[in-house]
Amino acid sequence: MPRNVGGSMALVSSVKGIGPKSVQLLNKIGIYTVNDLVTHYPFRYDVLERTNIKEANQDDKVIIDGKVESVPILLRFKAGLNKLNFRLVTTNGVVGVSIFNRAFMKNNLTIGTSVIIIGKYDKTKNIITASDIKFGSLGQTAKVEAVYHCTSGLTNKNVATFINTALLMNQKDIIDYIPKIYQERYNFSNKKTALNIVHNPPTIEKLKESEIRLKYEELFEFMFKINYLKQEHKKEKTGIKRNISEADLKKCLELLPFELTNDQLNAIKEIMNDLNSSGRMNRILQGDVGSGKTMVAIASMYLNYLSGYQSALMAPTEILAIQHYNNIKNIFKDTDINVSLLVGSQSKKEKKEIYEKLEDGTINLIIGTHALIQEEVTYQNLGLVITDEQHRFGVNQRALLNEKGKKPDVLYMSATPIPRTYALTIYGDMDVSIIKEMPKGRKPVKTYVKADSEIKDVLEMMYEELKENHQIYVIAPLIEESENSDLTNVLELRDKMNLAFGSKFKIDIVHGKMASAAKDKIMTEFKENKINILISTTVIEVGVDVPNASMMVIFDANRFGLSTLHQLRGRVGRGSIESKCVLISKEDTKRLEIMERTNDGFEISEEDFKLRGHGDLFGTKQSGDMSFKIASVRGDYKILLQAKKDSLEYLLDESTDNDELKKLLIESINSSS
Ligand code: ADP
Ligand code: MG
Repeated sequence: MPRNVGGSMALVSSVKGIGPKSVQLLNKIGIYTVNDLVTHYPFRYDVLERTNIKEANQDDKVIIDGKVESVPILLRFKAGLNKLNFRLVTTNGVVGVSIFNRAFMKNNLTIGTSVIIIGKYDKTKNIITASDIKFGSLGQTAKVEAVYHCTSGLTNKNVATFINTALLMNQKDIIDYIPKIYQERYNFSNKKTALNIVHNPPTIEKLKESEIRLKYEELFEFMFKINYLKQEHKKEKTGIKRNISEADLKKCLELLPFELTNDQLNAIKEIMNDLNSSGRMNRILQGDVGSGKTMVAIASMYLNYLSGYQSALMAPTEILAIQHYNNIKNIFKDTDINVSLLVGSQSKKEKKEIYEKLEDGTINLIIGTHALIQEEVTYQNLGLVITDEQHRFGVNQRALLNEKGKKPDVLYMSATPIPRTYALTIYGDMDVSIIKEMPKGRKPVKTYVKADSEIKDVLEMMYEELKENHQIYVIAPLIEESENSDLTNVLELRDKMNLAFGSKFKIDIVHGKMASAAKDKIMTEFKENKINILISTTVIEVGVDVPNASMMVIFDANRFGLSTLHQLRGRVGRGSIESKCVLISKEDTKRLEIMERTNDGFEISEEDFKLRGHGDLFGTKQSGDMSFKIASVRGDYKILLQAKKDSLEYLLDESTDNDELKKLLIESINSSS
């Protein structure tokens, strides 16, 4: 689904040269609008600097430029292999060039054509075996080339061409979020120029300059929204004041199945203070996966119940909502609290009944998905709204949720851990509680990155766990075989796992296309240890909790964002058993190595944003608050602070209230996507 880009909704199909097929491919990497396209920033740059070939050693990697001096000779070998040979004149004399499988370039490499050659230099034969040939020449200074995230069927060159065409044509669709005064104050170039430079950097210096401008803009837009929401909250003095006592808290703690960690307890006390004050709570609870945020939510809802109000807990997926529901129902089984579930897959009749009970107050505590904030839902006296996995919901949804009920207190929970100072800025409109401490007895998950060819080792590792009666999650990116992809799929893995372990162990699958009752059944069986190996897609990603599961194996791990992998990995290591996570990859293992090095969710998410900006290529797009496209909270913190100050100044300056830009910014907050 395209994100709301504030009026600029021109689709990529309006760009010359982008046909239906390319549209599909671009959609696949999260690009829907022209604005998405021109802000699809390079994730890295290759710097092309001319090698002095006289100083190069045998087999050195070299980059040289020159002119084609001889008609390329095409040699064909068996198995479709081919090779082009030609001579090149350079400022340092003539050198031979060979390149494999570029027969199609033959006609373009006419005598006199200027080319840049990248390859390995065989000094004794004076031949370069090229890995790449580009048209053009190298200047005095290094040439900087943009490298983009692509997808199969869409090359780096395609992406670059599309972006540059869009930059040429669609100037009016590119919105500049920096008000004029700040443009002038900082002497920023206009947006189009900056975009042009970032996609086609003439020099590193110019690139840095333009990057700063675009980062500032992105952070300005973000901070404007935060500041706006903060102002709106300030205007509301009409929160619910409760009278929760220490005795109530004690009663609550006795109900919970564990002794809480200090951080959990502190968070609960902070929330209790908010609930008892006349101001409205607007708090975010942060804690890495597995830190036990749910217990804090449960305690808060209980305290809210004791004060006579309804609570709503919203989760991003049905599986997670159902799990919370079962878990919470169990904890409250000896109380009078009426707990219910509301998810999209329920029948009309069921939903209608729940709506009625919410309206007449029979239900004290409702757990569900987005279904909870649909128009039809009216609460009798909603006092507390909790959203789990806040990183899944964008800044705009903060506004939406606040509309529900009269003036309920709001608690967000997020597993994207960020340090307090950053958090205070990013969640500038909220108070922050942080859980750092993991529950007692946890052992960090050991992570291994493995190549496809090492699958035998992985199966042996799995067997070791199974022998101990431990359970295993296996994850694949696809459900079933797909024509245009060689990614591993769940059904294929089921067959393979059955072949390896089927005689002794029970194997089953769960995925997003199954009916929710069927998924629920499988999950329950897994929880009860009736299934030893559970194969699934990322539906398992958030929150699923089975302490006896001690191993996770992820196939084609390179296809997932690092944050997704970290979330997935958080499914194991939930009990006292030492747990393992194996990331299998056909390519690109370098990116995954950070997962072996650290269990620190913050480090990983920063890295992920740096690499992808865009959240996941798979499944739901994470329109997370932190998923900036070009800025990084940590790296660009100074710019962030400036943007925060400026955007507040702009917001409060009434003389700009009629600015188109200001209206646009406010409109995009209120109309969530
Ligand atoms: P998350 O913060 O990722 O939502 P959960 O709330 O799902 O984490 O908690 C992870 C696991 O830790 C669950 O199995 C939960 O029951 C358990 N847990 C939570 N708090 C404690 C505690 N204080 N002591 C022991 N186990 C706990
Ligand atoms: Mg959770």
